[in-house]
Amino acid sequence: MAYSVPRKFPTTIVGSYPKMPQALEAIKKRKSGEISEEEFKEIVKPAIREVVEDYLWAGVDIISDGEQAREDMVVYFAERMRGYSIGDWVRVFDNEYFRKPIVIGRVEWISPMTLDHWLYTTSISQDRPVKGILTGPYTMMEWSFDLYYRDRRELIIDLAKVIRREVEELIKAGAQYIQVDEPALSTRPWREDAELLKEALDIIFKGLEAKRIIHICFGRLERIIPYILDYPVDQFDLEMKNSNFRLLPYLKEYGFNKELAFGVVDVHSFQVESIREIEEAIDTVMRADIVNPEKAYVKPDCGLKRLPRDIARAKLKNMVEAARRAREKY
Ligand SMILES: [Zn+2]
Repeated sequence: MAYSVPRKFPTTIVGSYPKMPQALEAIKKRKSGEISEEEFKEIVKPAIREVVEDYLWAGVDIISDGEQAREDMVVYFAERMRGYSIGDWVRVFDNEYFRKPIVIGRVEWISPMTLDHWLYTTSISQDRPVKGILTGPYTMMEWSFDLYYRDRRELIIDLAKVIRREVEELIKAGAQYIQVDEPALSTRPWREDAELLKEALDIIFKGLEAKRIIHICFGRLERIIPYILDYPVDQFDLEMKNSNFRLLPYLKEYGFNKELAFGVVDVHSFQVESIREIEEAIDTVMRADIVNPEKAYVKPDCGLKRLPRDIARAKLKNMVEAARRAREKY
């Protein structure tokens, strides 16, 4: 029997979850060339199972694979499409390094990048829907060095085609929720960039029979809200708790009319929000009079990967209970 997602305030996640030890081990072995991609996919599965067990324990309605295979949201995809070379580690802060992928040729889809783990997660989700989650073309572009196209529009359009191809695989397999993550957009909140992404999203989402979602977080999103509200998506998935619901009046002012998935727990804080505090967060959004409960999804601000596992699951548990109470109230 199909799982029935609540009609009001469904609960979901953005995607990433704390890495299980098995996943960290698998990523290390793959990087050192000890194991093949096929072996890698297999040995990450027990980690995904642990994540799904936490989601089910907490009672989240729409889940993910916890992005256990993804060492980094850009590098993961860059390593699995044509056109990229993975650069050396670049120092970004005192002690933080990250590997910046380099575009050295035309980017092209080779084979499914996320499908296996989506299928595996679906097989153990007890019929709960699993989101297909992909790093968006704008973020792929912004967080890479481009030595080939030397033209942002050409690069983003080709990246969008690669992502579209992956989305088609997921939909063919039965995915009902497709989410594109664009954290880089709010770091460059300019009209020109917002419009460039719209063109790319048209390619990714055109004519799709699935819930189309874009996740954007942090930064100065309010500056570009007028230019993103007509994106070809059904749902905006936004960070809200960390910025104290600052975006709400802007969404109201510009006539927001899509579904809104809003963050009710802060992914940067180790403090577990109480059920009461999360209920108040839901009340704050309802008072803003932007969406009705049928179009309101309750979720954390962003991925949970930086939190310890016990804190991540405790936050989810309280979130689910707060959403259940909101269903009685609204
Ligand atoms: Zn995010």
